[in-house]
Order: sequence, then C-alpha cells, then structure tokens
Amino acid sequence: MKRALVTGVTGQDGAYLSQFLLNKGYDVYGLVRRSSASDVMDEKLRWLGVADRITMIDGNLIDLSSLMRVMRDVKPDEVYNLGAQSFVKSSWNQPLLTGNVTGVGAANVLEAVRLEAPQARFYQASSSEMFGLVQEPVQSETTPFYPRSPYAAAKLYAHWMTVNYRESFGLHASSGILFNHESPLRGIEFVTRKITDGVARIKLGLQTQLALGNLDAKRDWGHARDYVKAMWLMLQQDTPGDYVVATGRTASVRDFCRLAFAHAGLALEDHVVTDPRFLRPAEVDMLLGNPGKAKERLGWAAETDLEGLVAEMVDADLARLSRSAQRN
Ligand code: NDP
Ligand code: GDP
Repeated sequence: MKRALVTGVTGQDGAYLSQFLLNKGYDVYGLVRRSSASDVMDEKLRWLGVADRITMIDGNLIDLSSLMRVMRDVKPDEVYNLGAQSFVKSSWNQPLLTGNVTGVGAANVLEAVRLEAPQARFYQASSSEMFGLVQEPVQSETTPFYPRSPYAAAKLYAHWMTVNYRESFGLHASSGILFNHESPLRGIEFVTRKITDGVARIKLGLQTQLALGNLDAKRDWGHARDYVKAMWLMLQQDTPGDYVVATGRTASVRDFCRLAFAHAGLALEDHVVTDPRFLRPAEVDMLLGNPGKAKERLGWAAETDLEGLVAEMVDADLARLSRSAQRN
C-alpha cells in the first residue's frame, strides 16, 4: 500500500486530497501543528467523513528537525506540501511569518525529503498569485511571474526551490500552479466563502448586509475537489514538471456575488456594500489560466463550472447555518 504524507492536512485542499488518496487505497499521514483548539482542528476532515482514517503526526513547517523525523517515521512514497500561511491579505500584516512558513517552510520540506526520503515524489502547492501583475492576458507555464504580495513572493521562492531541487538533486519534484479553487470547506475569510456564508445569513434573516472590498477583481475559480486530482496526477508521471491548473474562465467578484445571491432568490444590489477595510495595498486585478498542458499531459480538466460551484457553496452554508440555528 502506498504511503502519502500531506502537510496542511487540516486545510481545504488537505481534506479533499486526503479523501481522494484514501479512495485510491493510500495510507494517509497528515502533518499537524500543535493547536490549543485540537478538538476543532480536524473539522474539515470530519465534514468529509475521513478524519478517523488519517494518521496525524505532530510537526511544523518551520521546524526542520520535526520534518526530518516525520520523513524517517513515515517513509512516504509521495509528499504533498499544502501547508502555508495562505491568506494574501494577512501576508501584509505578517510578512515575515508568511515568508518563513510559506517560503522557507517549503524549502524545509524539500530538505527533509532530500536527506531522509530522496525516493519520495514531491508536490509543491504553487499559486496563480505568482503571476500577480499579469504579464500576459492568459497565464500559462511560460508566463513571467510578478508577485504582488508577501504571500506571492514567498510562494515564488518555494516554486523556484522546487524547480531547483529537481534540477540539482534529481528529486521527483513537481509544482502545481493552481488558480483559485473553492468549496464549502474554503476558509471563511476568502471572498467566495465570505459571500456564500453572507448570502445564507441574509436568506435566514441573521444579517442584512454584506461588506466587501474590490468587486471588480477577476479570478479563475474552480472546485478544490477537481484540483486535488491534478496534484495526484502530477506525481504519477514518469517525469516531474510544472503545471497550470485552472478552468480557463474568469469572472469578477461582482459576478460571483450575483450568482450567489440569485441562487438564494436575492439581489446583490439590496445587500452588498463596499468597505475600504477590505481593500489591499496592492491588488491582483485579473487572473485567467490556460490549463492546456495539464489537459494534454495529465488528461486533466476541471469538472465543476462556476454556477455549480456557487450553488454547492450556498446550499452548504444554508444547511450549516440552519443546523446550528436548530441546535441553539
Ligand atoms: P488552507 O489555508 O485551508 O490550509 C493551510 C494549511 O496549512 C492548514 O492545514 C494549516 O494548519 C497549515 N499550516 C499553516 N501554518 C503551518 C505551519 N507552520 N506548519 C504546518 N502546517 C501549517 O489552504 P488551502 O487548503 O486552501 O490551500 C492549500 C495550499 O495551496 C496552500 O499552500 C495554499 O497557499 C495553496 N494554494 C491555494 C489556492 C486556493 O485557491 N485554495 C490557490 C493556489 C495555491 P492549521 O489548520 O493549523 O491552520
Ligand atoms: P486571493 O486571490 O488568494 O487573494 O483570494 P481572496 O478570495 O482572498 O480574494 C480574491 C479577490 O477578491 C481579491 O482581488 C480581493 O481583493 C477581492 N475581494 C473583494 N472583497 C473582498 C473581501 O471582502 N474579502 C476578501 N478576502 N477578498 C475580497
């Protein structure tokens, strides 16, 4: 049976990837950092019904010795580095923490693999945020990068370290340049989930307004469930490489809002207000990916369209809030 080690196992992608790997028959090990909230830390894994099937191991991306111990104990066949300080807005408030966890943390995992498990295949969770101030209208593996936040700069370091360890040490190391992907398990601070949670609250009479920042920003939004499959496919190739993973369609925050409000029978004009608190020091105005290489080499394509994604997220938030209202 193959063994996979997943960092960031308690996050959105960690949950979907674990479910996917368990269904493929893997033994899944998750790196978890110590938290005072250990009773709720596996909430996403529980939501998918897989928490009890994962072996959790204590460690932290910024503690190389813990990562080396984990590699020795687990002897993984595949390592998925999904752990990060992943929220762009927070990265201006905690730039050095973000650099340490999101950037150097990835280098620590690469070092631990090189020293303790050099046969393991490695996946790095790179990001379309690395394109930032976009240099081409449609971004592919050959588009030059231009990071616009401490988060993106940290991800760029991690990306190039992945490329460098592949070229220097022959590691089977791949980097997935994933465009935004969402789900009912998306962190509540990200705009999509903030919108679907807000729509559900308004629908249930728990609030009347939703305050957002830049409604004109455009993203290429897909579903996390589809995207974790691309991660796994990258590690099944004979040759490692870098792949853009995207839907090929872009929409604005306003478009996302319109779909979400309409799904609940509401109109965004009646509820959305803008608040400068949610603006950013530097913005990424538009992202649109070309998933051609992933399609050609991996046979991968996004399966969920934006309308389906929005409907699933709004319905999940309505159900979640209705359940908690019944409990209270
Ligand atoms: P989440 O924010 O949901 O999950 C991040 C995970 O990292 C959590 O499990 C968190 O643990 C863990 N983590 C944070 N700091 C540390 C640390 N010091 N040591 C160990 N673990 C740590 O992110 P997503 O699941 O959405 O994304 C997965 C990865 O993909 C991230 O690297 C993200 O930056 C990247 N990415 C995501 C995209 C998206 O649209 N979702 C797009 C492109 C890239 P805890 O639960 O304790 O907080
Ligand atoms: P990001 O692409 O990783 O930064 O993902 P987010 O979901 O955090 O943000 C996507 C876009 O939505 C960015 O351009 C934000 O500026 C924009 N946005 C507009 N209003 C909000 C808001 O209230 N919260 C967040 N998180 N983003 C917002």
